Amino acid sequence: MNILLISPEVFPFAKTGGLADVVGALPEAIAKKGHKSSAILPYYQLVKKNGFKPVMFKKNISLRIYNREEFFNLLILKQNGVDVYFIEKNEYYDREFLYGTPQSDYQDNAFRFAFYAKAIIASIQYIGKQDVLHCNDWQSGLVPLYIRTHHKSDPLFSKTKILFTIHNMAYQGLFPGEVLPYIDVPWDLYTADGIEFWGKANFMKAGMIFSDAISTVSKGYSREILSPEFGCGLDGLLRAKEKMLYGIINGVDYSVWSPANDKFIAEKFDEKDTSGKAACKKDLADVFGIKYNAKRPMVAMITRLAEQKGIDLVVNIMKDILKESDFVILGFGDEKYNNIFQDLAKKHKGKVGVSIKFDNALSHKIEAGADMFLMPSRYEPCGLNQMYSLKYGTVPVVRAVGGLDDTIQNFNPSTKKGNGFKFKDATNEAFLGAIKDAVAIFKNKKLWDALVKNCLACDYSWESSAEQYLKLYKNL
Ligand code: ADP
Repeated sequence: MNILLISPEVFPFAKTGGLADVVGALPEAIAKKGHKSSAILPYYQLVKKNGFKPVMFKKNISLRIYNREEFFNLLILKQNGVDVYFIEKNEYYDREFLYGTPQSDYQDNAFRFAFYAKAIIASIQYIGKQDVLHCNDWQSGLVPLYIRTHHKSDPLFSKTKILFTIHNMAYQGLFPGEVLPYIDVPWDLYTADGIEFWGKANFMKAGMIFSDAISTVSKGYSREILSPEFGCGLDGLLRAKEKMLYGIINGVDYSVWSPANDKFIAEKFDEKDTSGKAACKKDLADVFGIKYNAKRPMVAMITRLAEQKGIDLVVNIMKDILKESDFVILGFGDEKYNNIFQDLAKKHKGKVGVSIKFDNALSHKIEAGADMFLMPSRYEPCGLNQMYSLKYGTVPVVRAVGGLDDTIQNFNPSTKKGNGFKFKDATNEAFLGAIKDAVAIFKNKKLWDALVKNCLACDYSWESSAEQYLKLYKNL
């Protein structure tokens, strides 16, 4: 099969969250199974900043948008058996951020990602016919819409199947209806069973409606989003399409996330010999100006600073966390939380370490050096960091939702089974209770060693998830 992964971010070229990791690894896993797989994303400033230099594949491809002709270049970079294509249109993508500044989204995002969708469709005649277009998140939502409407009779797409994967229901790409003429979406699609959603144009909804199947990134989340609580207003549509809704858990790229070959960490270690973890903990303490203490748990987070991630709960119980542990956080996002955490670092100097930025190297140091990793998410489609943590022998303390619930089992000191700690209600008490349970086990070296061993034994490699995607592609 020929499969094109369509995603607004792909690791290591441009990343703001888990989506990039997924689309950074899945095409390679598919290619390894004997299929031709490619990925396509905008040529952002960040791609250049990250040191990548794709080369020209096709110059001056033309497309029509808003009654005018526009041109872009298609660039290519070959990596590990995968062709990665970049849409070069500096006017729209050569900016400091991918989607907007910390203060607000870019004003022209509807147009930027309509252009992206049209550019992908225009590129496929040069890339070659595709059996499957695998679209990801709202930014690629107009690809299925344009193909099934404007290109309904285009032989290039007559046999192409489309899968739309939702990585987060809460980010739907909502824009005022007035954008429709600018992005060539006809008004007759602006209805309740079309792109319209409570008086707005909804790009994710377009993707869901015009695709052949929908998937999301864990079985748990695929069930949760059928309910009003997690469906973010699209649960009705999802219930109507339940037969074509799938849940496939994300894999982990262990060539990137493994303490045995991690170039960013102070000392390498693996499941047979974890002694190097102590040096990593010391290194992490040094980075954040915390006094190293082997006997005191180092509790960590790496997260977008957004309400979704339950960071308000962390702030509420910080004083209690610090009674028995130190705390470090690497995060970036909501200005309000950027400030709150910086204040906490000042207030609890030497006990709380805060880094407000996006820093890949530091995220590896944290995974390797911490004893516990907190993910008190309000909802979590899959979550990757709990799976990375397992590989580094860092015990996850998570809320029992979505992919977190699917991948973490409560540790039972009597049977010594389980790979972390879970709590149900999004309350300060429940969260603190789980942390206290973890700290109590930490104090008992024998039990803690057993728990860490269980974590290290978990395998969430792409192998099985890629197989499930291939099966789904074939079934389309
Ligand atoms: P989401 O995609 O909702 O942000 P995930 O847990 O699925 O959450 O994936 C988050 C990914 O982004 C992980 O790889 C995590 O390490 C990374 N990440 C999040 N914030 C930062 C940051 N400030 N610096 C470096 N990496 C980060």
